[in-house]
Amino acid sequence: MRGMLARPWRGAGWLVLSVLAGVARAGGGPREVTPNRVDYRIEATVDTTLMRLAGHEYIRFENHTDAPTSELRLHLYWNAFANNRSTHLIGSNGELRGVDIEDGWGWQRVTSLKSGDTELASTFTYEHPDDGNADDRTVLRVALPVPIEPGATAQFEVTWEAQIPRCRRRCGYQGNFLFISQWFPKLGVFEGSRGWNCHQFHSNTEFFSDYGTYDVSIDLPGKYRGKVGSSGVVDNVEPHGDRVITHCSAPALDDRMRLDASGRAPLVHDFAWTADPDYQVRHFPFSFDAWKDKFETEITTSVRAFGGEKNIRLRNVDVQLLMQPEHADQWERHGKAACAALFFYGLWFGEYPYSQVTCVDPQWGSAAGGMEYPTLFTAGTSLWTTPEMHSPEFVTVHECGHQFWYGLVGNNEFEASWLDEGFNSYTDAEVMSRRFGLRSSTTDYSHVPFFGVAPVSAPGGGVLDNFLSARNIPLPWTSFALTPVRNSGFVNLWRDQPQLAFVEEFSDARSQQRGGYLGDPDRDQIDTPAFRYVDSRSYGVNSYRRTAVVLRSLVGVVGYEPFLRGMRHYSEQWRFRHPYAQDFFDSFCEGAGVDVHWYFEDLFRGTGTVDWSIDVQQQRESERKGVFQAGPADEFVALDQKKKEETPAKSEPADEHAPADAPKPSAAKHDEDSPWKARVLVVRHGDLRLPLTIELRYDDKSTERRTWSREDQAATHWLSIEVSGKKKLVAVVIDPERTYFIDTDMSNNSWFDATDRVAPWRWTERIFERYVHVLHWQAGLGG
Ligand SMILES: [Zn+2]
Repeated sequence: MRGMLARPWRGAGWLVLSVLAGVARAGGGPREVTPNRVDYRIEATVDTTLMRLAGHEYIRFENHTDAPTSELRLHLYWNAFANNRSTHLIGSNGELRGVDIEDGWGWQRVTSLKSGDTELASTFTYEHPDDGNADDRTVLRVALPVPIEPGATAQFEVTWEAQIPRCRRRCGYQGNFLFISQWFPKLGVFEGSRGWNCHQFHSNTEFFSDYGTYDVSIDLPGKYRGKVGSSGVVDNVEPHGDRVITHCSAPALDDRMRLDASGRAPLVHDFAWTADPDYQVRHFPFSFDAWKDKFETEITTSVRAFGGEKNIRLRNVDVQLLMQPEHADQWERHGKAACAALFFYGLWFGEYPYSQVTCVDPQWGSAAGGMEYPTLFTAGTSLWTTPEMHSPEFVTVHECGHQFWYGLVGNNEFEASWLDEGFNSYTDAEVMSRRFGLRSSTTDYSHVPFFGVAPVSAPGGGVLDNFLSARNIPLPWTSFALTPVRNSGFVNLWRDQPQLAFVEEFSDARSQQRGGYLGDPDRDQIDTPAFRYVDSRSYGVNSYRRTAVVLRSLVGVVGYEPFLRGMRHYSEQWRFRHPYAQDFFDSFCEGAGVDVHWYFEDLFRGTGTVDWSIDVQQQRESERKGVFQAGPADEFVALDQKKKEETPAKSEPADEHAPADAPKPSAAKHDEDSPWKARVLVVRHGDLRLPLTIELRYDDKSTERRTWSREDQAATHWLSIEVSGKKKLVAVVIDPERTYFIDTDMSNNSWFDATDRVAPWRWTERIFERYVHVLHWQAGLGG
């Protein structure tokens, strides 16, 4: 631990923080909970030969709850990678991102924890609050000699050592590449009378901790000089013999002085860092003014929704990019995608309050990509990628978007992963469709990119699917960047093979989310702790896609601008705080000005689904078919015969001079004057009741809308609408704005009087959908 304890702590930031601590408590809301404040000062020394890390930290903890605590609980996340008996590795069947773990284990051991001069190591115990697994060592309990009272501040000094794991999921080393996250003994969240919220590290869970500031010094071999990225900013790089010490602060010291409209100074709830001598460092500026001119419609809508331009202005941000050399030419693509997230998320949910965000392109094979940390995130790309593939754009937008849903609004990712992953999925698809169009991705076969994505994977999952579809067999002539192939006889022949079938329309990011939701729409309720979903598939569907689809469908209930106001209000009210499900529900309703608690109960705490369908019968009022009686005693007479008999008498006088075989005035001509009469039958399949709009379109181009309220739907599962008059119905459409992405079958939501060229496509889509269901069913058999 060279130079660690001897050097004085930098005091300036520390003092400022103590003053600002009171300000950071601001923020109202129906649930009067002020989060605790936890500040860290950390010094770490890394031995890159043994891949060992020696750490020393001061933790300053302010108890803002109304209860005392006589213990601490700390996360030791790296112990999840210590052996195959950890709860994490049992949950993942001994694998990390598909790799069986046989070596490269990682661990953490706290050697000392002092309160003042009192050593508390003898009180350490490992806790297993979730599953009682005695082999799991990811939660450390420390008994305190004196309780920390409400309103009191306590400080602890911790020394620990750690073995850096081989990087196979999110963190660790690979060669010279270091990605160091969840790496220091970190306090759980003390929730007052609810006790410590400090869950074990499960394979499906992410993280949860209090807001504060981080001042961190990292001692590394000299080859890492200028090649370190971290949460916040790097303040200073100090050569030290053949070593280099990098000083970082999160948030940046200047940012800590900058208060937002509510008087809050920015804070962060975690600190991650990375180092790689190969990093190519680039900077891409985000400027609000440059973006606002490109998206005038969005600006106009947001100004209207949020009551003035002053509420949508965003600060400029420096996007720092740490690129691998082989991807260095993609730095602008990463930069632009990060800016897209900063612009749209900022516009909708409030300003990104920090001066910098760092986008890390992790080393190939490190499995560190696609992960978020405060003011830093990892993306991920491939060697050959064209703009049409939207990779790395999609992952960059998603992970940068987490700065808002996770970073700024700090929900408990153990207990409500959907509050960040689902909200972020909803938003990333909205950003992608606005910035990059409705075609959002490609699928590779033999490394050749195609538009569209497979509607479903083959039973058995990735390996079998990839083998059958030849996805991973490179063709010799593909060793250069390719533009996705459009329609051609060869492509269509290849595409239409059963294993290769894919649907271009599915490439819209929002439709993809809907497809994911349909794969598993009702096994769990969304509002479930991440580690309590039935399996990882349910975790994925509920936390990400289903929540996205449910939020998008909420627009159909409340309207787009109230929806924006509800989301904005929640985002601002719970910034730098820890909301739970009910907090979101209450806050949204308050902001939107609409009470939709019923929607949240049904959709987030229920498993109901819905499919609306429509059927229309339309005819002339005078239209008659079959045999009729004039009176009870009369003969039945066929309609056409009756018409023939009646027509001359009822129309013009018979022309006696006309030849006997002259055509009689036709029945059809007579019917043209008769009014139209139609019965529109809307049927609701499933128990979910949402207010529904039905649009009737007539041949004179007029339209008329009817609504079917939730209350009326409680009485019957069907609605019959009778219309009659001169106008002929030409189309009837349920949910004309197409806002209910939750509808499990959208292909039966419209009726057209005339068939057109779209019909075969509609049928094709339905057949594909059935095909999807069959394969899902087969997958469920355990194939
Ligand atoms: Zn995510």
